Amino acid sequence: MTSSSDECDVLVVGGGPGGSTAGTFVARAGHKVILLEREAFPRHQIGESLLPATIHGVCKLLGVFDELASANFVVKRGGQFRWGRRDAPWDFNFRHHQMLEDCAADFAYQVERSKFDEILLRNAARNGVDVRERWQVTTVVTEGERVVGVRCKDNDANEREIRAKYVVDASGHGSVLASTVDARQHSEFFRNIAIYTYFENGKRNPPPLSGNITCAAFDKGWFWYIPLSGTLTSVGAVLGKEYADQLKKKDHSVVFAELVNQCSLIKDFLSPAKRVAEGIYAPVRIRRDWSYTTARFWRPGLVLVGDAACFIDPVFSSGVHLTTYSAMLAARSINTCLKGTIDEQLCFDEFEARYRREFRVFYEFLLRFYDMHQDEDSYFWSARKILGTSEVSNAAFIRLVAGAGTTAEEFFRGKAEWMSKELRERRASPINEKDPALVALRASGKAVVEEAFKGSTAEDRVVTSALTTSADGQTWVIPRMPWKPSRMSAYGT
Ligand code: FAD
Repeated sequence: MTSSSDECDVLVVGGGPGGSTAGTFVARAGHKVILLEREAFPRHQIGESLLPATIHGVCKLLGVFDELASANFVVKRGGQFRWGRRDAPWDFNFRHHQMLEDCAADFAYQVERSKFDEILLRNAARNGVDVRERWQVTTVVTEGERVVGVRCKDNDANEREIRAKYVVDASGHGSVLASTVDARQHSEFFRNIAIYTYFENGKRNPPPLSGNITCAAFDKGWFWYIPLSGTLTSVGAVLGKEYADQLKKKDHSVVFAELVNQCSLIKDFLSPAKRVAEGIYAPVRIRRDWSYTTARFWRPGLVLVGDAACFIDPVFSSGVHLTTYSAMLAARSINTCLKGTIDEQLCFDEFEARYRREFRVFYEFLLRFYDMHQDEDSYFWSARKILGTSEVSNAAFIRLVAGAGTTAEEFFRGKAEWMSKELRERRASPINEKDPALVALRASGKAVVEEAFKGSTAEDRVVTSALTTSADGQTWVIPRMPWKPSRMSAYGT
C-alpha cells in the first residue's frame, strides 16, 4: 500500500550536485519534492575541481554562495598544463577574461566533495525538499509509456513505491534508471581509466597560483594535481584503456607509485609528500567507463541530469558544471509543465537542446585538446573556433574552461537580461558547419571518432530552441519572436 506521504510532485533520485540543484529549484517554485539518496552524507565523491560558472552561476542562484565562501575551500584562479608539444608548463588565469573579472567571478573552488555535496543537500532540505538518506531506488513505475514513480528500499530495507508527476534521475554514473530512457553510448575515442588517491604535504605553486589545478601529460596519459587544503592534495592518473590489464595484475598502490615516477612534474610535487593512511582519503580508487552519452535525455515522466545522462572527461573539470547546469534546466522544464503553461515536449526538448549544446562545446574541444602535437596557441585557436568568436589571445579558451562557453549570458550577465537571451544566442551562433576548423577536423579523420561516439544508430532528432527563461528564472516562456526550429543530432550538432 502506498501511503499519502509516498506521493509527491517530483521525486529526485540521488543527492549529489545534480539532485540537490534540481530539487531546490523545483521546491522553491512551491512543489512537493522528495529526494532519495542511497548513502548517508557526507560521502566521498570524485570531481573536486570546480568552474566559475558553478560557483558564481548556479550556486549563487541556489543561495549557497556565502556558505561556500565561508567553508574554507581552496580558491582556484585557473590552471597549469604540462600539455602538448612544448615541454614547459603553461598557465591560464580566469582573471584574464574581462567578463569574469568584471563580474568578480574570476575564481572557483577546489572542494572536498563530501563537504560541497553536503552543503548543497542541506540547502535543498532548507528549501523544502524532503531529503531521505539511505533510501535506494531500484526501478521506475510506469503506466503505459509514462513514468509515474519509483520503487525503492527505505532506510529499514522495506520495499516502497513512491508516485510522482515527474522523476529526476540524478543518480550519477551508476544510474539504474537511465537505460529505461534510452541506450548509453560509450565513446570510442575517450575510453580512459582513472586511478587516484590523496597525499599530505605535496608542493604548491607560489601564491596566488597555489590553489590552481595542474594537469600534466606523460607517456601513458596525464595526471591531475588538485590542492584541497593547505596540505591535502587529490592526485589522479588518467590512462588509456590499454593499461587496464596492468591494473588487474598488480596492487593498485604499487601501480600508482610507478606512474608517479614516470611523470617528472608530479614526482617533484610529491617528493615531500606522504599518502594519506586513514579515512576516506586512504584508498587508491579506480574509475572507468565514464565517457558516454544517452541517446535521449528524457521520456515522459522521467528526466536524466548530470552523470546519469552523460559525462566525457575530467581534464577541464566540467562535470559538476554540466551537472548543475542540466539540473537547473530540467527544473525549469518541470516547473513549466507543473504550471501547465507550455507543452511538455517543447519544455524538455528545450532542456535537452541546451544541455547538449554545452556538452558539445566541451566534447568538441576535448577532441582537439587530446591532440598532443599542438602547442597552446593552437588550443586557444580551437577554442575560438568552437565558440565561434574572434576573442583575442586566450580569452575564448578561458571562457570555455570557466564553463561560460554557451552559458555566459545566463550566469554572468544577470537575470534582468534573461528576457532577450534568445536574440543574443542567435547572434552568437556557436557552430558554423562551414567553419574551416570543423571541416579540417572532420577531414582529418576525427569525424569517424565523432560518429563512433554518436553511435551508428543515433538518429537526428528535431529539437527546438524555441523558449526563453522567465524573469524569475523558474520557468520557460515563449518569446515574442519564436526561433525557427533547428535540426540537431544527439550530440547537439
Ligand atoms: P553524483 O555526484 O555521482 O551523485 C549521485 C548520487 O546518487 C550519489 O550520492 C549516489 O549515492 C546516489 N545514488 C546512486 N544510485 C542511487 C540509487 N539507486 N538510489 C538513490 N541514490 C542513488 N567533475 C568536476 O566538476 N571536476 C573534476 O575535477 C572532476 N574530476 C573527475 C575525475 C574523474 C576520474 C571522473 C570519472 C569524474 C570527474 N568529474 C569531475 C565528474 C564529476 O565527478 C561528476 O560529473 C559529478 O559528480 C556528477 O554529479 P551527479 O550529481 O550527476 O552524480
